[in-house]
Amino acid sequence: MKPTAFEYHRPDTLERALSLLAQFGDDGRPIAGGQSLVPMMNLRLARPLHLVDINGLALCDIDQQDNVVRIGALVRHETHLRDPLIARHFPALVEGVRAIGHPTIRRNGTLGGSLAHCDPTAELPLLCMLHDGAIVVASSNGERRIAATDFFEGAYMTALEAGEMIVAAELPVPGGAHAGAFEEMAERKGDFAIAAAGVVLGHENGRITGAKVACSGAAQAPMRARPVEQALNGADLASPGAAAVIAGFLETMDPPGDHAASAPYRRALIGELIDRAMTKACRRALEAS
Ligand SMILES: Cc1cc2nc3c(=O)[nH]c(=O)nc-3n(C[C@H](O)[C@H](O)[C@H](O)COP(=O)(O)OP(=O)(O)OC[C@H]3O[C@@H](n4cnc5c(N)ncnc54)[C@H](O)[C@@H]3O)c2cc1C
Repeated sequence: MKPTAFEYHRPDTLERALSLLAQFGDDGRPIAGGQSLVPMMNLRLARPLHLVDINGLALCDIDQQDNVVRIGALVRHETHLRDPLIARHFPALVEGVRAIGHPTIRRNGTLGGSLAHCDPTAELPLLCMLHDGAIVVASSNGERRIAATDFFEGAYMTALEAGEMIVAAELPVPGGAHAGAFEEMAERKGDFAIAAAGVVLGHENGRITGAKVACSGAAQAPMRARPVEQALNGADLASPGAAAVIAGFLETMDPPGDHAASAPYRRALIGELIDRAMTKACRRALEAS
């Protein structure tokens, strides 16, 4: 199928892009990598009257200001894989981005596009939430920051309002020694995950000093596994032993069942992925100590 008719706009400044988005309201859509929007338009699941191509905007940088790494909305997925700041501070993010789609998708798809599209098992929403990230959104009225835990509201639903666009994500730099890991399961390599889990551990003298755990597949948006995080605080890296808490956390879930996985399978899979990511992060922490 072909998309419905639309007008194409290519602003070269953020101000102009925001003014166009304000003017078009719900009839306008930013387009970045086009890896999700173009298929949706071809299937007529999206019918924007105005496409605002944001690829000419200066939103491609990754830089650190004080203790925050700011990643521009137009940073392509594959750019995360070779950036030294991301490699140093967010190893779980590198591992997660490597699992996104295929080389062409990673070459074209952007951070902002993935966060705005908000597929329930997309890697970048989970990874932003895992790292206590904030999404920076702009409109003709100014800028606001939304915690990742508040931004992803459901499948393909975010806190973005008409006339707003994502300009960056900000991730706080973890202090002290830390290790991370990401695990996911998909039907075939390159497919969207059935479920995924990420873990970041701060550590000192063989003990976990702070844990972050996030997973997807359990609900329409990624979530933090707070009870598991609490159980890991102070645990021995050599035997973190959170099995009972993970099992209790899984009991609170009501994951969807579909052609790829039944609800009970998905619940068990999330537990397994959290365990694998936790074990891998602990091993990495011990190797680095
Ligand atoms: C075959 C295939 C496999 C894939 N596999 C995976 C996978 O395994 N994991 C995964 O996470 N993704 C996967 N994707 C999706 C891919 O990651 C997309 O690149 C991503 O979801 C959207 O990024 P984009 O830049 O292409 O956005 P676009 O397609 O340009 O836009 C997507 C949506 O975001 C909006 N948008 C874009 N940029 C902004 C912005 N800055 N501010 C506000 N709204 C914005 C658009 O209006 C649109 O609604 C796959 C895609 C394909 C085609």
